Amino acid sequence: MEQRIIDLIANLKRRNIEGIYASSRQEARDRIKQAILKSSSVGISGSRTLDEIGIVAHLEASGYEVLNQYKSGISRQQSLQIRNLGCQADYFLSSCNAISQAGEMVFFSGYGHRTSGIANADNLIVVCGLNKIVPDLAQALKRSREYVTPLNCKRLNWKSACLVDGACHNDICLEPEYKRMCCQVLVIESEINPKRLKVIIVGENLGF
Ligand code: SF4
Repeated sequence: MEQRIIDLIANLKRRNIEGIYASSRQEARDRIKQAILKSSSVGISGSRTLDEIGIVAHLEASGYEVLNQYKSGISRQQSLQIRNLGCQADYFLSSCNAISQAGEMVFFSGYGHRTSGIANADNLIVVCGLNKIVPDLAQALKRSREYVTPLNCKRLNWKSACLVDGACHNDICLEPEYKRMCCQVLVIESEINPKRLKVIIVGENLGF
């Protein structure tokens, strides 16, 4: 394991957060499964990282009750209902937009389901590839706003101000001219309950 990962896990521990290293996406899946009790419900947030490790299909195939708002054949209304239920599930699964070397995590959200689940879940598991680790909190916020969100807007054809040129125009990105994606910003700096939050750091690049 790289020294910077060893240091990051130590920094997370100081914040009452458990850092777990997984050398590959396959190992990450195993670690997540080990962390979730079989009879539990699991909420998820939209995430390229979670898609790339294939955890949702893996949990569903393993018999977990996954509250999957993206399953095919459901209406927008049903999807929103599942998102609300997912925020109250026994476990909530997400990735972060960025994590500082000191262990601070940044999460952006449009409607707030993601930030709600992350902030309130009894048990939260965050998956993070090596590409999300940055030197400090300022860089984590910068990465989230100037790199991640414009890519997500492009991917989803979300009519924000950054959709045009890929650059953030924070001061003008407001209704009615634009549909802003990064409406909510959540930074986790520490946890009160030392058992609530696990961060799986995967030894490869995942998502963006
Ligand atoms: S504030 Fe608007 S323009 Fe800037 S990254 Fe967020 S959605 Fe894009």
